[in-house]
Amino acid sequence: MIEMMIEPITTSEAPTAPERVDLLGLSRERLAAVLAPVVDKPFRVKQVYQALYERGARDFAEMTELSKELRVRLAARFRIGLPAVASRHESADGTCKYLFRLHDGATVEAVDIPDNGRHTFCISSQAGCALACTFCVTGYWGAGRNLTAGEIVAQVLAIRADRHLPAEGLNVVFMGMGEPLLNVESVRGAVEILTEFISPHRITVSTVGILPGLEEMARWERRPNLAVSLHAPDEERRSAVMPVNRTWPLAELLPALRRYPLEKGRKLTFEYILIRGFNDSLRDADQLSRLLSGLKAKVNLIPVNPDPVLGERMVPPDDDRIEAFKERLRQRGWIATIRRRRGDDVSAACGQLRAFGREARGFRGKGAGQP
Ligand code: SAH
Repeated sequence: MIEMMIEPITTSEAPTAPERVDLLGLSRERLAAVLAPVVDKPFRVKQVYQALYERGARDFAEMTELSKELRVRLAARFRIGLPAVASRHESADGTCKYLFRLHDGATVEAVDIPDNGRHTFCISSQAGCALACTFCVTGYWGAGRNLTAGEIVAQVLAIRADRHLPAEGLNVVFMGMGEPLLNVESVRGAVEILTEFISPHRITVSTVGILPGLEEMARWERRPNLAVSLHAPDEERRSAVMPVNRTWPLAELLPALRRYPLEKGRKLTFEYILIRGFNDSLRDADQLSRLLSGLKAKVNLIPVNPDPVLGERMVPPDDDRIEAFKERLRQRGWIATIRRRRGDDVSAACGQLRAFGREARGFRGKGAGQP
């Protein structure tokens, strides 16, 4: 104890300036509160808000609608916390994968998927994922931390800035790394901001079905679309590939989804990964159809993307079998689509996002003997 007390305080770093407050992630009200001591007129708050989120300004210097003096004052106290682009890989099909480095060194991936002039941004809600689904590379690498609302919104703004895209016409899907409903407060904050410039109909939250999170989401004012990762038509098989099913089994998930408030004309989306010989038979399609009966829903079939870390069983069915599965669902009256594989050549496809390169040295993922 004494030794600790007399230990000299040494630091190799120069004293740092007081931390500037990050404006990204603040709601309109919060922004008004933190800007109040600095701005001269209330409408300046709206100008800053629009510059930040609608225009995606990276710097106060870009906010030329404000006086020079105000820009300097803002820059002295605040920052715009856009993440650094650690790497960027563009696929032959135009899909572009970003690795962002956050202020504490955590890294997250996000993907821009262009399609006929439309862009869908697939963004992360956590750096890593604790759910350990057996088919997903993010889960293989293990848990990370929750992102803040600002860190979520910043992914959208950073990709937009890099790709020079306007806010109009964008789709955003929470299908990157992490489980959005295990970080429900940040996701709510991010959705609140994103829906200022993107319609909630163009935003989709994808979840394994965390029931307390679903109950929260049911109360949101501007609700995005809901996609549920199902992947198997019965408890036993779902638990085998998604350990979370033991906590929130289908027997509780389906009734919760039947209670979930859907606006008129909207549908739930069910994501169903097709794994050869595991869940891809016509009987499975029938069982899936029975499971969903009574729900307003469509089914998105996703041929599993194999990855060396996932082992040899994660193989997609042949095209004929995938087609036959889809047709069977259609015969039973469901809207069923097959998700095309995108960004495959840069490991940007579904379930291939990881916080660390596979080659990362010294990182002890599950495969490296971590419990
Ligand atoms: N945790 C949420 C959000 C991540 S979304 C969720 O699971 O819904 C990730 C989407 O990609 C999910 O539909 C997931 O099931 C799918 N996915 C994961 N691994 C995959 C793989 N190897 N091949 C194809 N899709 C995969």
